[in-house]
Amino acid sequence: MTLLPATVHPEIRINSYGWYLRKRFGCRVSKVNVDAGFTCPNRDGSRGTGGCIYCDNSSFSPGATQPHISIEEQMLAGMDYHRKRLGSQKFIIYFQKFTNTYDSVERLQALYQRALAHPDVVGISVGTRPDALSDGAIELLAGIARERYVCLELGLQSMDDGILANINRGHTFDEYLGAVNRVSGRGMDICTHLIYGFPGESRAGFLKSAEMIASLGINSVKLHQLHAVKGTRLAELYNRGEFVPVAMEEYIAAAADFLELIPAAVTVQRLYGSAPLEIRVAPEWNLKNNQMWYAVLNELKARGSWQGKRRG
Ligand code: SF4
Repeated sequence: MTLLPATVHPEIRINSYGWYLRKRFGCRVSKVNVDAGFTCPNRDGSRGTGGCIYCDNSSFSPGATQPHISIEEQMLAGMDYHRKRLGSQKFIIYFQKFTNTYDSVERLQALYQRALAHPDVVGISVGTRPDALSDGAIELLAGIARERYVCLELGLQSMDDGILANINRGHTFDEYLGAVNRVSGRGMDICTHLIYGFPGESRAGFLKSAEMIASLGINSVKLHQLHAVKGTRLAELYNRGEFVPVAMEEYIAAAADFLELIPAAVTVQRLYGSAPLEIRVAPEWNLKNNQMWYAVLNELKARGSWQGKRRG
């Protein structure tokens, strides 16, 4: 019988984030999203305008945001949902929408502390961009991380500067490296967001990011396919035939390759992206999130493989 690395779940053959949290906190832990009313420097003109070409414009319309609802109310509703649906006992509050370090340190501190004040909250997860991390924000998060769990989610999407420019990402790979360098060793988990399927991207080019994740000591990853939703420039490109999504089989194979190439110690938070049917443009794979998650895991199983296998 094959001996899997200790961090790899024996059945699903990866180091899933849910499993990691269960071991770390001794119970089921769920992430609860809150919208604290942030914006994004790649939309407001300070870094760029228009945003990334796949950025969901509808989420910037007033009706789609919830900052008028206090984060405490959002937290209670989310925790209630996860308690009933999954039996979760503890929670990580996920500042998810837009760029969640893009404000004064005083406002950030107040928001993060409000989230941490609930007795069932074990920590926070903060989604941001590499170019939106002030020294003050890093000091604040490092201070919180001395006592509580903190995960900093850094959007990178691609390590290819040509792709970053084409998607109007508004930052370079070098800026991502600089951000990782400044945050490493400060007690926070670092989660990197990646996308596969950009126009002109090869599987071999994408897989270089697995080595990058290993060499930088990144703790966690989120991966999804490039997908277009209504109202985005990517949807326009798709409608003009200038964006052809990768085939589902190609995505599954590339995701399995990626998992084989990253260290077994890296936790895996996501393997697929989805959009509500009413705004989805392409691709139309018609698989639910968990079916796609298991399609990748089944590919690993069919190969007789597991996360980190190709690292030797
Ligand atoms: S960084 Fe995120 S919020 Fe900002 S434009 Fe890109 S996708 Fe949209």
